[in-house]
Amino acid sequence: MKKHNFSAGPCILPEEVLKKASEAIINFNNDDLSLIEISHRSKPFVSVIEKARSLALELLGLENKGYTALFLQGGASLEFLMVAYNLLNKKAAYLNTGTWSDKAIKEAKAFGEMVEVASSKDKGYSYIPKGYIIPDDADYFHFTSNNTVAGSQIKEIPDTKVPLVCDMSSDIFSRQLDFEKFDLIYAGAQKNMGPAGATLVIIKDGILGKVERHIPSMLNYQVHIDKDSMFNTPSVFAIYVSMLTLQWLKDLGGISFIEKVNLKKAAFLYDEIDRNPLFKGIVAKEDRSTMNATFALVDESHKEMFDTMWKEANINGLNGHRSVGGYRASMYNALPLYSVQALVDVMQQFENKITK
Ligand SMILES: *Cc1c(COP(=O)(O)O)cnc(C)c1O
Repeated sequence: MKKHNFSAGPCILPEEVLKKASEAIINFNNDDLSLIEISHRSKPFVSVIEKARSLALELLGLENKGYTALFLQGGASLEFLMVAYNLLNKKAAYLNTGTWSDKAIKEAKAFGEMVEVASSKDKGYSYIPKGYIIPDDADYFHFTSNNTVAGSQIKEIPDTKVPLVCDMSSDIFSRQLDFEKFDLIYAGAQKNMGPAGATLVIIKDGILGKVERHIPSMLNYQVHIDKDSMFNTPSVFAIYVSMLTLQWLKDLGGISFIEKVNLKKAAFLYDEIDRNPLFKGIVAKEDRSTMNATFALVDESHKEMFDTMWKEANINGLNGHRSVGGYRASMYNALPLYSVQALVDVMQQFENKITK
């Protein structure tokens, strides 16, 4: 039986997507060739990447709204650099809410003045700072919508006049937002969209071409836009699987449908964390992530017993990030409600065992 997979990334993908993807490895499109042995410029693959790009915009409600979707390589980590390379002229503003924001800040610092508008680093990133001021003369404001490691999430899009850039790696396509407020969105595929190896970047028309520096071709968004995301060989398999996952989501009813499921899953688990006297949540309640729930044992001496129990219950990937400790249950779009049920059941069995 397939495990209940709470892995933070790479992570769970829909069963039917995995099945179609494995078939395409052997015989794609009934052409008696594998998806990964045909030219990326062949018609069948060009239609895959075009479909993936248009589905991404369609699901976010950005189709025909002046945005371009690209599938690049180098992960979200390369976007930390590319964003600054392409957009930072003099000054950029960043919100530091976690490990990934911190890394984005570090990369961007090399390109101009860095204003860190607020940070929750002092408290282990256990909350989202509020009430900060974004300078009006910044070239852009960057934030991380969902902090995969700490388990916090920004619930409302920050209000600002400057261009808005967002690392949405771990919660893109999981909830409705007014996506038209963003000027640039990026996300590594392996959290909620597909396998590792592709990064989705969505860019609003007209935001590029404002920096003076020379930008190397591979790091230049305009080059990738001009070549329809085919400047060099794209990661064909990762893009194909992402396309299948986006199609799966569309067929289910899109983001508005999955958001309801995600809220239900998160409420189910957080209710148990709050009710069960043996566990405690790690993040401030109002800032808790619906994607990555972090929690810990009240009494660490029970760790071995609980770890044995959840592993025996066919659960995978529950260990917290090494920088946070405790547990992290990642509940991405493809994780079914019954997997959350399995985890809640183990937490209750554990309580019965300890308190008996
Ligand atoms: C995982 C993650 C990253 C890093 O992604 P890579 O593809 O490994 O570079 C960046 N930001 C967030 C929010 C993430 O969850």
